[in-house]
Amino acid sequence: MSSVVIVGVQWGDEGKGKITNALSTEADMVVRFQGGANAGHTVSLNGDPIVFHLLPSGISVPGVRCVIGPGVVVDPQALVDEIDMVAEHGVEVGDNFWIDVGAHMVMPHHKAQEAAEEKARGKGAIGTTLRGIGPTYADKHAREGLPIGLFADFDAFRERYVAVASRKNELLTKLYGAEPVDIEGSLERLRGIADRLRQHLADTPGSIRDALSSGKNVIFEGAQGTLLDIAFGTYPYVTSSYTTAAGVSPGTGVPPSMIGKVVGIAKAYITRVGEGPFPTESPDERGDAIRTCGHEMGATTGRPRRCGWLDGVALRYSVDINGADRLIITKLDVLDSFETLPVCTGYRIDGETTTRFPRTVPELARAEPVYEELPGWKTSTRDARRPEDLPAEATAYIKRIEELAGVPVAAVSVGAAAHAVVEFEDIL
Ligand code: GDP
Repeated sequence: MSSVVIVGVQWGDEGKGKITNALSTEADMVVRFQGGANAGHTVSLNGDPIVFHLLPSGISVPGVRCVIGPGVVVDPQALVDEIDMVAEHGVEVGDNFWIDVGAHMVMPHHKAQEAAEEKARGKGAIGTTLRGIGPTYADKHAREGLPIGLFADFDAFRERYVAVASRKNELLTKLYGAEPVDIEGSLERLRGIADRLRQHLADTPGSIRDALSSGKNVIFEGAQGTLLDIAFGTYPYVTSSYTTAAGVSPGTGVPPSMIGKVVGIAKAYITRVGEGPFPTESPDERGDAIRTCGHEMGATTGRPRRCGWLDGVALRYSVDINGADRLIITKLDVLDSFETLPVCTGYRIDGETTTRFPRTVPELARAEPVYEELPGWKTSTRDARRPEDLPAEATAYIKRIEELAGVPVAAVSVGAAAHAVVEFEDIL
């Protein structure tokens, strides 16, 4: 390989962190291209689960250069906390880590604004992670943002920060009746943080392109999932960035012509966090069984995830929009105990059966899933490492996913540990 984009093809939490981390042993570079500390990528490090929010999931692998691209929004406080956290696990973050100067920063006023906005939305709240991600992207586009490159010269940062934060305090106090942020107090904290992060600041797009041109292995690590994409997700119940493979270009400075393989990551079932329509949700004891067995609690928020059955309509839509060549199916082991497994092969909307994924939320909310029941395998897959180790019913289940998605499944994951994978073909 020279490059692969790892992208979630559901509503996030598909296990992208584990897969990226596992593939990182063969990578030269791992690049995050969107999202921020709202992501929560869990990887197993020496048997301990650790959650990366901002650091690319390759950071624990020696010799891998990890990059936060310009499409990511960085909460500088969260980043230094995460660097300290991984240091406690023996992972040193030094000159193996670059932050692109164009990545915008999440500031205290962004979090305050998001909290005020969600409160004002009342029952119509989006259910965001309250990490300030949405307002930071909005300000980037409104040209009120603060790229992290400003930290190279703290006086330049201070001047712009004071101007922007003062305007934001007007909004917070006058429109929302909220408390203003403490500008001087924040500056004091940010000075120390800037001193720590300055060594990592870099102009990265040229280096990523050079790595690709010279045949190095580069992984572009997506966060969240396709159905949360700002343009193609279930708007407004979405995140604020381009989560699809197309987000790699604006998020890294790598042109579309240089982006190689796209691998979609999907769970063997599906989950969703927060509000919004979810046709295959199983809000009964079978959904509870998935939640318990799959530990489906948010890695960033701790919120219980809504659980349901594999949605072939949404999967095909996501594969097509990403141009995914391959899928990796995770958490197959979570389905080990089910007698039968419903798989959604179509939707009934207003009396018509369709395999088209609706582009508007009201239409998606009217979609009733058409299910096909596949037999369960009722045996543990956790120790499977070769295709022939899988029970015939599990193999048939994967085959059906391939048919519905229209692309081959390259591997299945059967446990949280990096080696708990059955590869059908070489992924890199
Ligand atoms: P990400 O944001 O896409 O990386 O996904 P999360 O980290 O939020 O959620 C994936 C969770 O499932 C993590 O706790 C992983 O350790 C765990 N996990 C990943 N793959 C598997 C698997 O194949 N089986 C099981 N049982 N757990 C897995």
